[in-house]
Amino acid sequence: MQHDTVLLNDFRRAWVDLGPAVLAATERVGASGWYILGEEVRDFEAALADFWGLPFAVGVGNGLDALEISLRCLGVGPGSRVLTTPISAFASTLAICRAGATPVFGEIDELGLLDLANARKLIEQERVDCLLPVHLYGHPIDLDHLDHIIESTGVRMVEDCAQSIGATWGDRATGTVGHAAATSFYPTKNLGALGDGGAVLFTDSKMADRARRLRSYGERERYEHLEMGLNSRLDELQAAILKTAMLPHLASWTATRRAIAQQYLDGIDNEHIAVARPPAAARSAWHLFPVLVEPDRRPAFRAHLQQLGIASGIHYPVAIPDQPALLSTPAVTAGNLDRARNWCASEVSLPIHPWLTEGEVARVIAACATWAG
Ligand SMILES: *Cc1c(COP(=O)(O)O)cnc(C)c1O
Repeated sequence: MQHDTVLLNDFRRAWVDLGPAVLAATERVGASGWYILGEEVRDFEAALADFWGLPFAVGVGNGLDALEISLRCLGVGPGSRVLTTPISAFASTLAICRAGATPVFGEIDELGLLDLANARKLIEQERVDCLLPVHLYGHPIDLDHLDHIIESTGVRMVEDCAQSIGATWGDRATGTVGHAAATSFYPTKNLGALGDGGAVLFTDSKMADRARRLRSYGERERYEHLEMGLNSRLDELQAAILKTAMLPHLASWTATRRAIAQQYLDGIDNEHIAVARPPAAARSAWHLFPVLVEPDRRPAFRAHLQQLGIASGIHYPVAIPDQPALLSTPAVTAGNLDRARNWCASEVSLPIHPWLTEGEVARVIAACATWAG
């Protein structure tokens, strides 16, 4: 029997459900005659802040800029050192460099997240001013531990929540422990736009004011430029789409991702495929579903999936400090990062998104069962 390929993201299916609401939002913005920084952005920012349980949200152009603006609002700049993870989207590190600071790479833990076990030692030894943890795959890093690190070291913190919107640790949401939370509305993210977008969330109103300046040329009043900013505004169009066509569904999409993840966790049972389970306190947003296979068998495993009509991904194939761009950029690597490099060689991401059918989930589980290693 011929099947459609099980995709990592299925935007065509999403459009069938969401198209009418997206077109209505588009009509609203078009008819308003106002396209940059108006009511739609303000309303979406309020709705997002409300969803997140934080007082201030500032819409920006993309996730990279959300991180750079967050860092600058916290006073990170030339001379600063920012501890982060070698396994993430490149943007996590690029934002640190664009802010003028130096990235310090720490080792990862068994879930592929920045290892906090020796973070306090690193913060002292490497004179770290700021921490940029990434809640990768939607898995929340231990927020109690992050809180304790802030309390005991006085370090500043931007949480990279580009993959973790809706994820919680205990009764707290990712992004509510640090001084700022940055997120992305890139189409593949759990809350995706039909183009680029991002946001920064704060508890401090002065930082939020500064972020609003930084996104628009560092301008305070019209034609009064207080500092060197960016042009990084969330469009009215994307804000309108996010607010009325996407955000109202986010909680149910996250519930669907969790239900699929649970089926994978229960159903994938193969000694050649390792699945790292988040701890009990973590409620992941399951942006991705990572599994680990033997590095030299990874291409064959992905070919096996492909043969059965199942797409897969690698997040991420290269540790960030090993990227060519880092050769000519000041950076500090703490330890040998063996674990991180091994993760890059072993990881495979399986399809997980709200439009997967029951039959497709079963096909992914069956394909894992027939992998001979
Ligand atoms: C996607 C992503 C970013 C960057 O977001 P863009 O909107 O693509 O610039 C940053 N960090 C992480 C962890 C991401 O997944």
